[in-house]
Amino acid sequence: MRIPKSTKVGPMIYETIRADHLSAGPNLLYGQCDSENGKIYMQKCMDKKKEELVYFHELLHGIAHTYGINGLSEETIKILAPVLLDVLECNKMLKEDKK
Ligand SMILES: [Zn+2]
Repeated sequence: MRIPKSTKVGPMIYETIRADHLSAGPNLLYGQCDSENGKIYMQKCMDKKKEELVYFHELLHGIAHTYGINGLSEETIKILAPVLLDVLECNKMLKEDKK
């Protein structure tokens, strides 16, 4: 799938930003969603599969924030992101990358 430069989620636009280094305190991160400012940060140089998964994970945080889904916990998102991606892939619902 193609990771979009920006993603419309209801009234919000989430811009995808590639970063050399992402961290929260001592923890290195693959991705981070800044819901207040409409940014999805992605670590550069991940393989394609990891990148898709990280994007979906962070997008779910953005969706939860935008629609006030307070019960969508980190643990639930960790389950939902790969499942959702798998359903979309297995049913050929994702556009392929443009070559
Ligand atoms: Zn998360």
